[in-house]
Parts: sequence; structure tokens; C-alpha cells
Amino acid sequence: MNAKGLLLRLIEIVAPARRLQIVSGDSLPLKLPFRGLVLARDQDEDWCVGLRCPCGCGRNIELLLIKEAAPHWDLVLDQRGRPSLTPSVWLRDGCQSHFWFRHGRVHWCP
Ligand SMILES: [Zn+2]
Repeated sequence: MNAKGLLLRLIEIVAPARRLQIVSGDSLPLKLPFRGLVLARDQDEDWCVGLRCPCGCGRNIELLLIKEAAPHWDLVLDQRGRPSLTPSVWLRDGCQSHFWFRHGRVHWCP
């Protein structure tokens, strides 16, 4: 891991939990926040969530929430409004990041 990756993992531990931001419509903004999870919600339907890859590679990760999609993810909020995603996120190309997103925090898989 390079120095930037190490720094980002350190930030993940000490920084506040990532928050959920909601945008209306079925697509994500082109520019995602540095931290935080963006949810695209159209009417009452949750379409997808997006985040910048926590490894620092600059990639935008888009995860579908709609049940008809395969694969799709489940998004739940805890009592303090912190988002969790199931299952884990695994990028099989590029940086190959593999992590769980739990209670607004990234937990790296070994
Ligand atoms: Zn990455």
C-alpha cells in the first residue's frame, strides 16, 4: 500500500462516520463527495448509492439497490442515521478493493 492509501485508512479510523446524502432522481451526481455516501431516490424508490473508492484511486463506485438488479445491495440506517451496506463491496478489476461498509465506516477485508 502506498502512503496515500495508508493515510486514507488512518482517516477512516479517526474521522467521523460517513453520512448519507440523498439526491432525487435515478442517477448519481458526476462528482461524488470525498467521503459520504450518496443515495439516488426517485419518488419513493431507492435506485443506487455511490461513493468514491475509499482506497484513494479516484474511482466512483455505484451500487444498485433495486431488487431486480443482480447484484444488488441492501442499505439500512441505524438509529443514529449511519448507513450500512450488505453484502461487502469487492472491485474485481482496477484497485481490487474489498471492504464492508458498516455504520458509516469502511472495514477493509484482508
Ligand atoms: Zn480504489
